[in-house]
Amino acid sequence: MATECIFCRIINKEIPGNPIHETSDVIVIKDINPKAPIHYLIISKQHIQDIQSFADCDAGLAANMLLAARDVSKTLADSSDFKLVVNSGKLAGQCVFHLHFHFLAGKQFSPL
Ligand code: 5GP
Ligand code: ZN
Repeated sequence: MATECIFCRIINKEIPGNPIHETSDVIVIKDINPKAPIHYLIISKQHIQDIQSFADCDAGLAANMLLAARDVSKTLADSSDFKLVVNSGKLAGQCVFHLHFHFLAGKQFSPL
């Protein structure tokens, strides 16, 4: 079925995403407009709008998104120290309403 969701289109390979890491339920791509020297997007393959939309049965997926962050940090250069950010909802700054974590690395960040 055709979808307007940009991340679903990347996951469905309708447009190129050039994944740098992929599992059965998670894909990791480079952000098109990076906010740090390293800026990856850890994206659920399932279309879930945001964290509020997680069902209890999505607990495994939520854990796998964190495990993808761990794996990327261990395998890709200069990614051992990183910041994970999730914008959940419009007020938080979410622009693409398909759940994803921002993986940011490659510089000294200020504490929150
Ligand atoms: P949000 O603001 O929803 O938390 O983050 C969405 C992110 O997706 C932004 O950082 C934006 O640069 C990125 N993005 C939007 N469209 C595309 C795209 O087509 N390809 C890639 N790789 N990143 C995208
Ligand atoms: Zn989607």
